[in-house]
Amino acid sequence: MWKDILLQSKQSSNLVGIFLDNCKVKVGNGHRIKFWTDKWCENLCLKDAFPLLYRVVVDKRVSLSAMMVRKEEAGEWVFQFRRALFDWEREEVIRLVNQIEAGPVIRCYLEDAIVWKALEFRSPVSKRIWVKHVPPRVQFFGWLAWKGKQKTAEFLYRIGVLPAGASVVCCLCKSGAESLIHVLLLCLVAWRVWYEMLRWWKVQGALPASVEDILEWWSGVGLTKKERMMWNAIPLLVMWSLWKHHNECLFREVVPSVDGITDLIKLKMAVWFKEVFKEHMFSVHDFVFNLERIRFSLGGGYSE
Ligand SMILES: [Zn+2]
Repeated sequence: MWKDILLQSKQSSNLVGIFLDNCKVKVGNGHRIKFWTDKWCENLCLKDAFPLLYRVVVDKRVSLSAMMVRKEEAGEWVFQFRRALFDWEREEVIRLVNQIEAGPVIRCYLEDAIVWKALEFRSPVSKRIWVKHVPPRVQFFGWLAWKGKQKTAEFLYRIGVLPAGASVVCCLCKSGAESLIHVLLLCLVAWRVWYEMLRWWKVQGALPASVEDILEWWSGVGLTKKERMMWNAIPLLVMWSLWKHHNECLFREVVPSVDGITDLIKLKMAVWFKEVFKEHMFSVHDFVFNLERIRFSLGGGYSE
């Protein structure tokens, strides 16, 4: 799962920082955790918390599990320093030992893992982002959109990366200023994509004008559990697709197309959920053109 997100992060270095700030290491057997440089202990990086000791320690890349083996053999924590320590450095070692003794316990039967902090404090909105059956990269994008983290031309202009006079006009509608909220919601192209999704599901209503409000609005009240699985994937997929389309138009000179985006969203949904609801034997064609039939056989109904 994390491979996908890390790949996404690699393509844009500013995302790596956001990614690292928002995940934490969950200690298992300690094999994959670097004692000094991973944030495994109370969300602290020991290298930063004890810089004086880190400077003189020999094995800077030692794993947590190797440190535990040494501790079991010696009956206490063993650090290899390249010279004898001064008194004030020994005091630091005592502080370090207190810190790690208060930290998490090693569990030999579990693999080490990385978890999103966001998963631990689930707000109603974050529940709409970490949605089952949606690829992690699409969830990750939804989270960035919720937090307003994607960089648009308008943002780059504001912080002085783009020169004065550079175009910050939205490349989809050629009129609005290209902010994230514009590309994902307020743009005429975005607006038409969202409403095509509502039409596809025969849902009527006015959409709110912020990512957070849309995710909250998109509750799927009245739908069956299986219908809701599909319904919940839509806002993430719409935002992801709009952003990708925006980038293609901006960098590859693709001509903006509402039908192109909506067809792709429906096809993607069909491919994902054909797999999820294998026992129902849906065709992709039914998914795109005859959603009512599928909803009916999932125990749902017409909402008209
Ligand atoms: Zn626009």
